[in-house]
Amino acid sequence: MSLVPSEVVLSYAEAAECVLHHAEKLRRAEHAVDQAPLLAASGRVLAQPIVADRNLPPFPRSTRDGFACRAGKLTAGPLRVAGLLRAGEPWMSGTLAAGDAVEIMTGAAVPPGADCVVMIEHVEVSGGFVRLTAPRTLAPGENIVDAGSEARAGDILVPAGRRMTVPQIAAAAACGYATLAVFARPRVAILATGDELVDVIRTPLPHQIRNSNSYSLAAQTLAAGAAPAILPVVRDDWAATEEALAAATGRDLILLSGGVSVGKFDFVERALLRRGAEFQFTGARIQPGRPVVFGRLPDAYFFGLPGNPVSTMVTFALFVAPLLRALGGEADAGPRFVTARLEEEMRVKTGLTRFLPARLESDMRDARVRPVPWHGSGDLAAAAQANGFVVVPETTEQLSAGERVSVLLL
Ligand code: AMP
Ligand code: MG
Repeated sequence: MSLVPSEVVLSYAEAAECVLHHAEKLRRAEHAVDQAPLLAASGRVLAQPIVADRNLPPFPRSTRDGFACRAGKLTAGPLRVAGLLRAGEPWMSGTLAAGDAVEIMTGAAVPPGADCVVMIEHVEVSGGFVRLTAPRTLAPGENIVDAGSEARAGDILVPAGRRMTVPQIAAAAACGYATLAVFARPRVAILATGDELVDVIRTPLPHQIRNSNSYSLAAQTLAAGAAPAILPVVRDDWAATEEALAAATGRDLILLSGGVSVGKFDFVERALLRRGAEFQFTGARIQPGRPVVFGRLPDAYFFGLPGNPVSTMVTFALFVAPLLRALGGEADAGPRFVTARLEEEMRVKTGLTRFLPARLESDMRDARVRPVPWHGSGDLAAAAQANGFVVVPETTEQLSAGERVSVLLL
């Protein structure tokens, strides 16, 4: 048996396609389901659809404070005020007589017989009669939302596979879901490798650095809706790497950082191979992140991410997040990009798809992006200024100021 996997280096598009192919298979697989109280379902992926249990609105709803009446009748002359209807109050008097109007509040059910609500600001009321103020006009249907016009009982308002955010929580509450079936969070083992690493609570010696990747990966894992377990740092040797992989079993995904380059003490790929790994790719023509590794062990998927901190976070956003979202049952799994206007010219060499740290700002009219100067994929200080990464396609040498560019979001 070979000691190292054979090299499979893909373009960005091929690597992304490969991950999405596996993600799609995972998304269709059976997923464990949790029952979550409504508020706890915020941020989780729905394992059931949200179905309207009644028409929305359930009754013809007045959208204004005013008078419910027949439009043609009020246009023709004053109408008698036959009563007052508050929101939450039923109308008990049958069909409204043609010559009558009812004072009505926003959110109340429009009585049968009325075909419009005239705004209180558009009428004069005196002596128990209401009249339209000139030059106001009135048409049937005004200020009424018909019963069932937003949704019909039985309609699916949110399909399974969507992540619950604010509007979905509101829809679930409106349809009477006190609890919801959501997909279980995928479990992720995080293994940082490197003899130079010390934990954040320790004081590093001059030749040591703090382990930042375990924390950035855990934060990204949480943001992708999964549950991270930060395992102890793995020393750069054979046995330690194998033991660490053994300790990571039982998780849905194993994330390793570092040790995937061609250094003498890079054991990750060899140890994975010994445990029966099948490699999908062992590199991608991207910067940062070229040595990224993706594949499957007998019981879990894994990624070997390059140890440089900016490479680690970019390869997570590009490849790990889509796989994790799919593992969690989410339908819309792919990496997240936006477009923005580039504020400064950028020049690079062709041959790699680049994801360069940048600061994205937006207002109502426009999104703008400015590259952050950096010293390469180890430059955490530059990354800390950034909130996105400008995409430079493999064959592009130059992006001009003012051009619309694609920006990878973390
Ligand atoms: P490697 O991929 O192991 O060759 O590491 C590449 C670079 O990333 C080296 O400078 C490492 O010191 C650094 N590095 C590796 N792992 C981590 C980590 N967990 N946190 C911060 N930096 C790291
Ligand atoms: Mg290393």
